[in-house]
Amino acid sequence: MKKFKTDLHIHSCLSPCGDLDMSPRRIVEKCRERGLDIIALCDHNSAENVEPAIRVGEALGIRVLPGMEINSKEEVHTLAIFGQTNQAFAMQDIVYGSLTGVNRPEFFGEQVRANEFDEVEGFNDRLLIGAVDLGLEEIVREIHRLGGLCIASHVDRPSYSLISQLGFVPPGVYLDAVEVSDPRWAGSEGRGILETLGLPVVTSSDAHFLKDIGRRVSVFFMETATVEELRLALLGKSGRSVEM
Ligand SMILES: [Zn+2]
Ligand SMILES: [Zn+2]
Repeated sequence: MKKFKTDLHIHSCLSPCGDLDMSPRRIVEKCRERGLDIIALCDHNSAENVEPAIRVGEALGIRVLPGMEINSKEEVHTLAIFGQTNQAFAMQDIVYGSLTGVNRPEFFGEQVRANEFDEVEGFNDRLLIGAVDLGLEEIVREIHRLGGLCIASHVDRPSYSLISQLGFVPPGVYLDAVEVSDPRWAGSEGRGILETLGLPVVTSSDAHFLKDIGRRVSVFFMETATVEELRLALLGKSGRSVEM
């Protein structure tokens, strides 16, 4: 099996809380500097910066997976990670159809659409930081219908997480994994909670600033850099595996 250093949770300047230096090009350049092989670009409720990041990734030899971090009706953050942009854009259509409100840049921050040449293409004026009018169960079902992976974000944090908002995995919600921000939590006070959840555990950076990219990585042992292989590794099937 090959070894893939992976950070599946990175925000760009499209996220209102993402630093304006987080352009698709600079993100991928930083990933190369940090020796990452696979990343997922997961902006809040939007995938509008994934295409330029994928193009830069192709030039620099980094597999960029299109994704987004969806904020459910219950205010649970969940990563939706896809192999193809058309899948991510189909999910974005569903999210946009259930997202109301207009961004207030002076309050929440700018939401910049950029191209692969580090130029501003425009601004997204939706309230991307908001919650969509879809429950977690429906979101997870749609992600899977489109062929994606769903990973509950930062379950060890006191807000916007599966544990903080719900405290358990509701019946009918089939997550592929949970993400912890701090792997030490998984081995200490979080151990019992994670055992109860019974799901694969990964860690990632949730970077909003260039300096944070790759500060947490999960290492996947698998054959190729695809979502199908990631799924097998999370399940521990066919000789694939993942470790933090
Ligand atoms: Zn989050
Ligand atoms: Zn995030």
